[in-house]
Amino acid sequence: MFIYIAGAGAMGCRFGYQLQKSGNEVVLLDSWQAHIDAIKAHGLHIVGDQDEVVPMTIMRPEEAHKQAEFIILFTKAMQLQDMLEKIKPVIGPETKVLCLLNGLGHEDVISKYIKHENIMMGVTVWTAGLKGPGEAILQGKGTINLQSFAAAGEAAVQDIVDTMNAAGLNVIYDNDVVPSIWRKACVNGTMNSTCALTDATIGQFFASEAAIRIVKTIIHEFVLVGTAEGVKLNEQEIVDYVMHTAEIAARHYPSMHQDLIQNHRLTEIDYINGAVARKGAKLGIATPYCQMITDLIHAKESILNIK
Ligand code: NAD
Repeated sequence: MFIYIAGAGAMGCRFGYQLQKSGNEVVLLDSWQAHIDAIKAHGLHIVGDQDEVVPMTIMRPEEAHKQAEFIILFTKAMQLQDMLEKIKPVIGPETKVLCLLNGLGHEDVISKYIKHENIMMGVTVWTAGLKGPGEAILQGKGTINLQSFAAAGEAAVQDIVDTMNAAGLNVIYDNDVVPSIWRKACVNGTMNSTCALTDATIGQFFASEAAIRIVKTIIHEFVLVGTAEGVKLNEQEIVDYVMHTAEIAARHYPSMHQDLIQNHRLTEIDYINGAVARKGAKLGIATPYCQMITDLIHAKESILNIK
């Protein structure tokens, strides 16, 4: 299959690498020039569970000309619209798109560029990191839950599910993926911003009663808003899931800490706690913790002069 990976950071490199290895034609699209130059000059260096250098095709999104059959989106949330705008010329009536970005509401942006029935939304527990331009850190294993918006459901995307499974990506077709997307957003919404703001590992942050009160209040706000939108969410089950995830990942700094504190990059806060605050405002549901956390993260971005 011919596959574009739109956004070839840590996760884009992981998916591109695995899909190319299993025999697909993969083109990485990215705008970080140092990363493009490094991969063009030396190939993609994979470290972590293996140490390997793989030649990969990478170009800027505006340089893509071949019509897209299947695109996997892996930008950061705030880069999504710009990426779709740049790749508009290669999107046709048959182009299928899979979005596995963290956060909420991406389907509203994607729908402006892709036919509704060609959109797949999902969530993944695969992880990846970047050591620097052209160097991806791949460790551990993961799964993907995805759902197609097509009326035919799984049958409409069986070739894509099979292709991704042949690459070892462990896809589960989910007839109702939205609750899983919200559940992952709860994990991000309780750990990412809080650990970035307190400069703590997940274990350090989750160690106090005060922190657990914050975590539970954030989850409560997510559940109130999601439920009002018709998403089936079980608050206690989400609390248990978040606590369990925090235990497993206790020694790690979440990605927002890495982005904001370690690398001084903008965060995805507007698509996590910020999305819940915006949706809450529209629905007349108060979300003071999500709003406060969003404002604090933006204040920190401003203090660090990140643009
Ligand atoms: P990433 O930050 O590695 O890459 C996203 C984009 O930012 C890419 O275009 C990349 O080239 C660019 N970029 C990265 N570092 C840069 C730098 N120093 N300077 C300039 N540009 C840079 O993002 P990611 O981790 O691949 O995440 C993509 C999406 O997947 C996000 O929505 C994220 O929340 C989600 N996600 C990530 C993981 C993970 O383990 N990394 C897991 C699940 C979901």
